[in-house]
Amino acid sequence: MTYKTIIEPFRIKVTEPIKLSSEEDRRQFLKRASYNPFKLRSDEVIIDLLTDSGTSAMSQNQWAGIMQGDESYAGASSWLKLEREIRDLTGFEYVLPTHQGRAGERILYGHIGGPGKVFVSNTHFDTTRANIEFTGAEAIDIPAPESWNMEVEAPFKGNMDTNRLRAIIAERSPENIGAVILTITNNSGGGQPVSLENASEVADICKETGVMFVLDACRVAENSYFIKSREEGMQNYSYREIAQKTFRLADAAIMSAKKDGLVNMGGFLALKDKSIALDCQNLLIISEGFTTYGGLSGRDMEAMTVGLREVFEDGYLNYRIKSTQFLGDRLQKLGVPVMRPSGGHAIYVDAKKFYPHIPVERFPGHSLACELYLKGGIRSVEIGSVMFGKYDEEGNLVPAPNELVRLAIPRRVYTQSHIEYVAEVFERLVKERANARGYKIVWEPPFLRHFTAKFEPVNG
Ligand SMILES: *Cc1c(COP(=O)(O)O)cnc(C)c1O
Repeated sequence: MTYKTIIEPFRIKVTEPIKLSSEEDRRQFLKRASYNPFKLRSDEVIIDLLTDSGTSAMSQNQWAGIMQGDESYAGASSWLKLEREIRDLTGFEYVLPTHQGRAGERILYGHIGGPGKVFVSNTHFDTTRANIEFTGAEAIDIPAPESWNMEVEAPFKGNMDTNRLRAIIAERSPENIGAVILTITNNSGGGQPVSLENASEVADICKETGVMFVLDACRVAENSYFIKSREEGMQNYSYREIAQKTFRLADAAIMSAKKDGLVNMGGFLALKDKSIALDCQNLLIISEGFTTYGGLSGRDMEAMTVGLREVFEDGYLNYRIKSTQFLGDRLQKLGVPVMRPSGGHAIYVDAKKFYPHIPVERFPGHSLACELYLKGGIRSVEIGSVMFGKYDEEGNLVPAPNELVRLAIPRRVYTQSHIEYVAEVFERLVKERANARGYKIVWEPPFLRHFTAKFEPVNG
């Protein structure tokens, strides 16, 4: 008999207080933050679903590992443990420790990128794209066609469109392709998984054409969960074995350990090719640190070594994915339009559908993010026209393709009752949806405006 209540597979030994606030407090906090939730102080937030990156709670074994950190400049035992763990997981001989994912991206893509090079991905994460474009190279996204449909319950909506991959490699010629990058799970595409079959097909195409295949493996454990539960023939492998199979299809991997490494800071770049690895090691020494610590202290490496094991435990992954799905299912039952099926790390709400009376020029996603904060102290992030909208020559808004609000779930941080609370706040927002108003931008910086822009509510 399996019960439907999802219990956290841990007990709580250390607590971090949450400061509760009233609606009146929050009205003032949000006003002071110029109606931009990014500018709130964290103690003004009750449930922080801004990101799952670097927000994990560490286990007692990770904290115990921290006490064993060897802070030697060269050849630290903490490094040797981490290197052994990553080699065993990935199968790659060369491991470079970095302070987070984007440092690995800058090193690898800075080396193999440059003007005239093309990178192809199911979807480049924004730092990935930025690091590629910064070198003068081009980044092309080719997600599978079903990824565009928010409602269809396809099992692997994070897949890459392999027909388009073949066509692009043929058209641009293999020597101009910097790398093919498979992002698992597809973060910017809703945290949707990639099947092992799709990854194998991508690997075959890369082998046939001699193109480098890189895994962006930030959420490789969550992806393994979906493979085991949805892909034919995979049920008898452990989550870690599935991850090992996935890594062994690629030539290199970059991972931000702030996600499935279960640490607050950390990452790595791992490679098969010796000559690229040696070049990257030089770049690592110039910008991150010596090869046996990169951007990390010994204690960080200890915590990461333990986190990279724990993240594949059955109890943990089951709780992780089921509790995310629980929120998605609850919201759907309440009539909140959510991206289906639920991804691994976050639930995405379609704000254009939720607030049909707010035009895109008045940012319905931003309005929902503000309502969630005002009514419940919940911080989320708009992924819509505030983040990705542009202006045409006449200064009119060219809206983003979707107006979404992402509720990202930190790992091992919130309990079932916190998630119940989020659902209850949504229940109220559903009832009061006609009262929600739009916003206008009253100040914005030239780049990445969502972080610092100032807003004001508008009437009507
Ligand atoms: C977070 C993330 C990165 C970048 O990692 P940082 O640790 O934030 O630098 C790259 N790719 C994906 C898919 C990510 O989610």
